[in-house]
Amino acid sequence: MEVLKFGGSSVSSLLSLKNMLQIIKEYDLNDNPLVIVVSALKGITNHLVKLSELLKSNEDSEYRKILKLISDEHYKFMNAIFQETPKGLAQKIKMLEKDLIQTSSILIKKDILTEKDYDRIVSFGELFSANIIAAYLKENELNFSFKDARELIITDNNFTNAKVDWNSTSSVVESFFSKNNNNCYVVTGFIARSIYGDTTTLGRGGSDYTATILGTILKAKKVTKWTDVNGIMTADPNTVLKASSLDNISFDELKNLTKFGSHVLVHPNSINELSKHNIPFLIRNTFNANFKGTQVINNENSSQRVLSIHKSCSMIAFDKKHDLSKQLITEIIDKEYLFFRIKKTDDLNKSYYIVANDCINFFSLNLEETEENIILYSGLKNIKIVDRNIVLITITGKKMVKKQELENIGQLLNKHNIKILGFRFFYNSISLIFKKVDSEKALVVLHEKFTTPIFEVENSLTI
Ligand code: ASP
Ligand code: MG
Repeated sequence: MEVLKFGGSSVSSLLSLKNMLQIIKEYDLNDNPLVIVVSALKGITNHLVKLSELLKSNEDSEYRKILKLISDEHYKFMNAIFQETPKGLAQKIKMLEKDLIQTSSILIKKDILTEKDYDRIVSFGELFSANIIAAYLKENELNFSFKDARELIITDNNFTNAKVDWNSTSSVVESFFSKNNNNCYVVTGFIARSIYGDTTTLGRGGSDYTATILGTILKAKKVTKWTDVNGIMTADPNTVLKASSLDNISFDELKNLTKFGSHVLVHPNSINELSKHNIPFLIRNTFNANFKGTQVINNENSSQRVLSIHKSCSMIAFDKKHDLSKQLITEIIDKEYLFFRIKKTDDLNKSYYIVANDCINFFSLNLEETEENIILYSGLKNIKIVDRNIVLITITGKKMVKKQELENIGQLLNKHNIKILGFRFFYNSISLIFKKVDSEKALVVLHEKFTTPIFEVENSLTI
């Protein structure tokens, strides 16, 4: 079997659904049943997040407007893809709509909105979309059934970012699919159920993770993420006109790209699972389905290089005496806020760190919290924000030969009068620190020089 995941833009127009049909028709479904994981329609999760914010702030009339907008978008979409909406689907959507309205009207009365309430609200996006897509495929003679992932994926109750309980999820998924092993399903991405039966979510962008959880447990031949770009590009094509797409990349390299701001976001947990189980992961374009996209495998030998850019970083410093506690470092690493520590030879009394800007918000929030936290984070009183306009450019690729590359990079940037504030080697990559004003030019110059594929001389000798 195989798992195909279709993201928001790949499920939101008649054109994308027609392309989806073509993609599915390439398969012999009797021989190779498919599990299709879908995201909410484009923009819907953001509307639902907004709805939860309005419910929190008791914005009575505003929240009704957004509820209406959410309904309207789904009806508009169904009108675009069906000549006549199938009866069963119309009933299902009406029920979901009612349920969302009712849930909202209960939550607006509450004083505090918990993360559990938030998850309940945002889960509606995938419930709407998966029902619509399943009905669309059925209308087009493809026998797919809707499946609510809350009946398959079990998590802890860490709402908004729940952790999968692999033991129970594996037994539930295995038992469900062994009873129904020749059937094809459209499964809601992103949402799951806690061991106590509440709705949970796997973090923003979590539909990728849903696809890989199912792919891993069902030992899929491969998992394909269908999106709206030609796979992974050597840089963001919006900034670097000459960016091209990669044929292959390793899981470790993809992890670096995701961490350091690649434009093709892949949920980080997905990468770990697939890599551990050696399941190939493909990233392909729903709107250019003949193009083979990028294949991610456990292969150390990708010789191409990719540039990723993280645009909202800061440089912060602490007096060495009041450096960050181990506990706090672990916490911000967990949240992916901390990138690395850098040495500055001109100031040895301070510790310098490059962090995501969100990290500073996190610090200031926690400083205001309970007394306990203030004690815990007391070192933060000495925080010095050196520069809030830092950009990280990371070059990832196997052939990043450390010293020599750094010299080449230094010379190149020098020639263009671009200053590097620091650097860090990590696995197959080097991250370079720039001031924001220099970063776009640096990206273009670096891309020009470092992304040309390098051909292996050794290989040509053995041919
Ligand atoms: N709809 C969810 C989000 O926008 C999950 C996903 O798209 O993967 O974050
Ligand atoms: Mg989405």
